[in-house]
Order: sequence, then C-alpha cells, then structure tokens
Amino acid sequence: MDDIEKELEQVQNEEELAVFHKNYLSKTGKLTMMLAGLKDMIAEQRAEAGKRLNELKRAIEVKFFQKQAALRAKAVNEKLKNDPLIDITVPAIDQPRGSLHPITLVTRRIVDICRSMGFLVVDGNEVVTEFENFDAVNIPSDHPARDMQDTFWLTNGKVLKTQTSAMQHEILKKYGPVVSAIFPGRCYRNEATDASHEFAFFQCEGMMVGKDISIANLIYVLKTLLSGVYGKEINVRLRPGFFPFVEPGFEYDASCPFCGGKGCPVCKHSGWIELGGCGMIHGNVLQMAGVDPSQYQGFAFGFGLTRLAMMQYAINDVRLLNSGNLEFLRGIKR
Ligand SMILES: [Zn+2]
Repeated sequence: MDDIEKELEQVQNEEELAVFHKNYLSKTGKLTMMLAGLKDMIAEQRAEAGKRLNELKRAIEVKFFQKQAALRAKAVNEKLKNDPLIDITVPAIDQPRGSLHPITLVTRRIVDICRSMGFLVVDGNEVVTEFENFDAVNIPSDHPARDMQDTFWLTNGKVLKTQTSAMQHEILKKYGPVVSAIFPGRCYRNEATDASHEFAFFQCEGMMVGKDISIANLIYVLKTLLSGVYGKEINVRLRPGFFPFVEPGFEYDASCPFCGGKGCPVCKHSGWIELGGCGMIHGNVLQMAGVDPSQYQGFAFGFGLTRLAMMQYAINDVRLLNSGNLEFLRGIKR
C-alpha cells in the first residue's frame, strides 16, 4: 500500500498518471487482478482479505482522483501563465456582459458626490443591537415609533437593522465629535411585500456634526447632493416633520427632476417629490454617543435609496430589484 502511494506521489504529469492507472486500477491493473484472484482463496480467508483489498483499492482511487485534479489545475494555470495569446479579461464571444445593479449605480453616484464634499463613507453591519437601532437614536422601548417598524428580532436579542439611523451612534462614538459621514445600507422590515413594499430595502443616511453646524448647511448639502444625482439644478424645500432622532425635524422635498417642476406623473403633478426626513440631531442622540450638545451640533438626513433607484430607472415594482431577474436587469436603461 505504502509503495503504491509513494509511486502515485511521484507522478509528475498526466502521461505518468495514465501509466499509473494502467498498472494498478485498470481492468488489467494489479489491484483489479488481486481482487479477481480472491476467488481461488478458501472461504474463511476470502471475506477478510476481500474487505481489506477493497478498502485499499478505494483509498488509492481517491488519491488518484485528487492527483488528477491537481495536475489538471496545474496544467491550466501554466498554460494561462505562459501563453501570451490568452487574455482572460477579454469578454467571451457572443456572451452578454454583466452589468451593475440599479441600486449599486445610484449608491456609487451618491457616494462619489458626498466624497467630493469631504464625507466619510461608512459601511455598517446589518445585524445591530436593539440599543443601536432604537435607544441610541432616541427611540426608547415605550416609544410608539418602535411599533411602526415591524422588526426582525434574532434569537440572540439583536435585530436586523430597520433603518440606517442605527449607524449614527457608532459613527459618532468612533469619529465624533467633528464628523461628516454618509452611510448607505440595507435595512429590513418584517412586512408583507407588494409592488411598493419589500422586506429588504436600501436607505441612505448622512450626517454632519461639528461647531456651528446649521440648517443652512443641511439645505446646501441636500441641494448639492440631489443636483449631482440628477445632473441638474434641484431645489429643496423643508416641511415640519417628526422623527425621534432630530429636533427640529423636517420632511424634505426635491423639485421634480423629471418635469422641472411643471408637473408629471412621477411627482403626481405637484412639481415636488417627497424624498425623506432630516433635521438637527437630537441632543439625546449626541449625548448618548459622548458628544456634548452644548458644544457641538449637527444635522442628519435620510432617504430611500431603493425609491431613488426606482424613480431614476422608472421601475414600477420594488420586488424586481431583489428578484435576480436577468431580463429586468438587461432592460434597465443606464
Ligand atoms: Zn414631475
């Protein structure tokens, strides 16, 4: 057995491997012949010897196939390395090329614009603590806002992030008290799906904290970001709105980029599109992250990345985005 294994180990190429196979494992190979020779043994010895010989043959076969795979991989790699005519980066002939998902396209655009304004881009966890998702953004356990978010609770007590705001606490603690950050991410809500609801969706949130940060800064950042996304001048208007983690809080609208404010089906003929919530970060949120609200202020804003992508690419059913449907992805006009 050891001798046969050693012989197999010394095999260097596929030709030598074929010889090994012929010598031991083929119909006329030594191992096969030994098994055939068992019939001449007396019955008591035959069972035991047969068992041992079969095990031996099987073990050699396993090693043989492993060796074969390794030699083939080595041959392919050597060919790729040494043949100057093979370029593995050339797309396959007549095969459709892959493309970026609409969510990725929109995210990259936003990230580029925010980076140009000096924002950090932070990638957060999808599994977060109850504290990060709720308490740290001023949503204590008796707050009605908790009931509005149907949350996926995990057996270890953690939650699937229901909102990108769950990142605020960690970012403030890690980079504060002076920080500008944008944090796009996937969020989850335990709700039934239909054309406009999906249990997994993308949000994007941004915040800026420092000395003398004001609502004027917030409006400027929103205008710059949205004008960059749509490639044209966009106006932003704020309306009072309630979100537990900001005070004062606003809902904000963008002038409709599709009709220039004249009215169209996308903006429901109002000239404005409701995009999300924003405001000055609540003192409690800053304080919980160790930032002194009497010294530092900041704003936060959020919007639905999924919704933005749907508007941008005229997608009328949110479920298509997670479907992996190639026909849909190929139909996206970039
Ligand atoms: Zn419009």
